[in-house]
Formats: sequence, structure tokens, C-alpha cells
Amino acid sequence: MDKINLKQFEVWFICGSQHLYGEDTLKQVAANAQEIVKYFNDSGKIAVNIVWKPTVTTPDEVSAMLQDANMAKQCVGVITWMHTFSPARMWINGLKRLQKPLLHLHTQANRDIPWSSIDMDFMNLNQAAHGDREFGYICTRLKLARKVVVGYWQDLAVQKEIDVWGRVAAAWADSQNMKIARIGDNMREVAVTEGNKVSAQIEFGYSVNGYGVGDVIKYIDSVSEAEIDSLVKEYKNIYTIISDSPEAMNSIREAAKQEIGMRAFLEDGNFSAFTTTFENLYGLHQLPGLASQRLMADGYGFGAEGDWKTAALTRTMKVMAAGLDSGVSFMEDYTYHLEPGRERVLGAHMLEVCPSIADGKATLEVHPLGIGGKADPARLVFNSPAGPALNASMIDLGDHFRLIVNEVEAVAPDAELPNLPVARTVWIPKPDLATAARRWIEAGGAHHSVYTQALSSEFLVDFATIAGIELIEIK
Ligand code: MN
Repeated sequence: MDKINLKQFEVWFICGSQHLYGEDTLKQVAANAQEIVKYFNDSGKIAVNIVWKPTVTTPDEVSAMLQDANMAKQCVGVITWMHTFSPARMWINGLKRLQKPLLHLHTQANRDIPWSSIDMDFMNLNQAAHGDREFGYICTRLKLARKVVVGYWQDLAVQKEIDVWGRVAAAWADSQNMKIARIGDNMREVAVTEGNKVSAQIEFGYSVNGYGVGDVIKYIDSVSEAEIDSLVKEYKNIYTIISDSPEAMNSIREAAKQEIGMRAFLEDGNFSAFTTTFENLYGLHQLPGLASQRLMADGYGFGAEGDWKTAALTRTMKVMAAGLDSGVSFMEDYTYHLEPGRERVLGAHMLEVCPSIADGKATLEVHPLGIGGKADPARLVFNSPAGPALNASMIDLGDHFRLIVNEVEAVAPDAELPNLPVARTVWIPKPDLATAARRWIEAGGAHHSVYTQALSSEFLVDFATIAGIELIEIK
């Protein structure tokens, strides 16, 4: 899989005006808009590529521009700004048909009022204060989901809000084409990991299709010894291998073989997310733990036990977080520490936690797995850094999807965990464990989630707005 490159995604910057003020004013509007776009692209604060578009001044121009945005494959969203007054009925037909995410930037070319020199020409040129209100009215009247960002364009806070939205718009575009391979079916009788794939495709664009384990085995069986040698060498370079006993190395070689085969299967099918399940491993030597971990680290969405909704959300959040310092992982609330006043959660999974959230070098270990009835699987073991983080869960309530987000504070484990053979992270949910867990359970949140220190709640708020789904924030 190619590394996720957010610069390939364009956001169109469209300034609205009208012909009332004459050509000189329109020239100045265009020049100011271009200066702002250049500043955004040069500042390094905004991940997607902002593209200036000519000022729209008539209903036909508005409709044509927004129709072009709909059709342009690389365009993931539209930023609008009314530098002057742009009568909003001009925008109705275009906005009604707009299919790309919308950000309404409420800014002004100049920061300060030039008190000693201000005249009516200046006033007419710089009237976003009411021009953007006219535009906002028609968006609200049309019930358009959008993000409104307010402030001087050079302010860091403004650029950060645009960056968050741009990343989410890119993730939304990615979701429209996402193909998810469900290798094996769901863990039997489990409820929350199930859902309506047709509804999900209508809502989020992604497609989920099932594959037999045999479809993947074909790829794994064709992996050569030389390929395995080379990947195991890479493991030795990146990880601390705690035992090089023949049994452990045999298991690690099998894991490498799985990784190479699964990667080829995913690349051949153009998949960007996948699921596995320990109840359907026929023909596999071991549960693909290490392979799932490393594929996740390369940007693939992953869900265990057939959990395709969490696989999709993992991929989506990985696109949002591309290029940021911290990672994104599939996660599960595993067990609690209920000491009064020090309540916290230990999050982990049987094996499949993404090393993108590792604190330092991971160890590569081989241990028995109590379930699945297969050989001892290899897995990466690590802690995750302390600091602000969040968990997000997407559930299917039958008639709609609901996204649940809980901000948490990750903390160090109270002690070393010498007998725990899986990657883990410990967190204190906000506002506290009892409130957060109660609200999460009342909301129907899953035991599976997506965990990250790279993203704030604002990303998920923007995502829910663009997707038009329900959001419950616990913080
Ligand atoms: Mn699970």
C-alpha cells in the first residue's frame, strides 16, 4: 500500500462576490484570495492542497463551479468565503447539488480596521462581516451540513481548524472508494460487530465483501523462503526478538509468510481495510497477529472477529492522522483497575494492536493463544505513551449509524507487566471511568474501538457532520 499522501487531495477555495462594485474591487478580491491560498499552502499547517478558484459572481458561475467540484476526482471539499457581499440566492442551485464537504471560512483580508484612513471603498471591499451572514443564512435554510470557521486567516487556530476539516474531508473521500475484505465471517453470535453492509455502503461509500480463508491461503502458500528470510531480517532490525529458539523462530517465519501473503492478497484486490476472525482459521498455521499489526501500521484498517465497521473506522482515522506524530490502532476495552479514585482501563486485544501507537521499540514474542486451537502466534508487545487520547466506536442501530467518542488520558501502567504477552495501553476515561463507561454503555458503544493520540474529538465531530450521522461525545 502506498503511504497515505494528503497533498494529493485538493480543497477548492471559492470566493463569492457580485458585479456591483466594479472590476477594480473584483481584481482586489481575487488577489486577496490568492494571497490567502498561498499562505495556507506555504505555512505547512494545512495537510491537504488548497487550490484557488476564480471568484464567482453570478448564479451560473456558482452552479458551474460547484458542479466542477463535484466532478473533480481529486477535489475532496470546498471552502467558501464571501469577501464582499454575494447575494445568496445566487448560491441556491449550486449548493443544492453540492456533493463535496463544505467549509465556510468567515475571515477578512485585513486584520485591523485602518482607523485613520478607513473610507467607504474600504468598507465595501471588506464586508465579510455581513456578506458571510447572508451566505450562512442560505446554508442553514438549505439544511447544509458544513463547518464554519471564524477568525483572521493567519491565526494558527484558524489554520488548525481548516487542517482538521481538510484531513477529515480527505478521509471521507477515501471512504467513498474503500474496499474492505472480510476474511472469514463474524465471530459467532457476537452482536455489535455485525451490521448492515448495504446501509454502510449507502452512508459511508465503502464496500464490504467476504472472502474465504482459502482465498488468502493461495497467496500465503506461494511465498518463497527467500521472501521470508528477507522479512525476518527486517523484523530483527526493527524489533527486539526475545527468544530465538527454533520453535519461536519457526513461528516468526510462519508469521512473516502470513504477512507477505496477506499483503499480496490485499494489494491484488485493492483493499485498504480487512478483518480476520479466530473462529475461521482453516488452513492457517496461527492467528495472524503480527501480520495484522504490521499491516495496520502501514495504513490498513483492521477489525478483529469480523468487525468491518471498526476496520473501516480505523482506516478512516488513519487517513485523518496521516503524517502526524502519533498513530491509530484497533483497540478493545479489556479489563479495569477499580481502586477508588484511581480507576482506569487496560486496553489491548488478543494480539492485534497497531505498533504505530508503540512507545519505543516493540518486542517480538511468541506465546500460546488460549483460543482458536492453532499454533502459538507471534505478536509485537509494547506499551503506549501517556498523554491525551481518545476512543471512537461506530455502531449500527438498525435505522442509523452512531459514532461514540470518549476522550481519555493515557497513563503509564502502575508496574511492569512481565506476564502480559500483548501490546497494551492504560487510560483514564474522561470525565471519570464510571461516568464514561455508563454513558458509553447507554449509548450502545462497542467493546471494540479505534484508539489514537493523533486526533482530537474535533476530527470526529467534523466526520459526523460530513457523514450526516449521529455523534455522542463523552468528555
Ligand atoms: Mn475483540
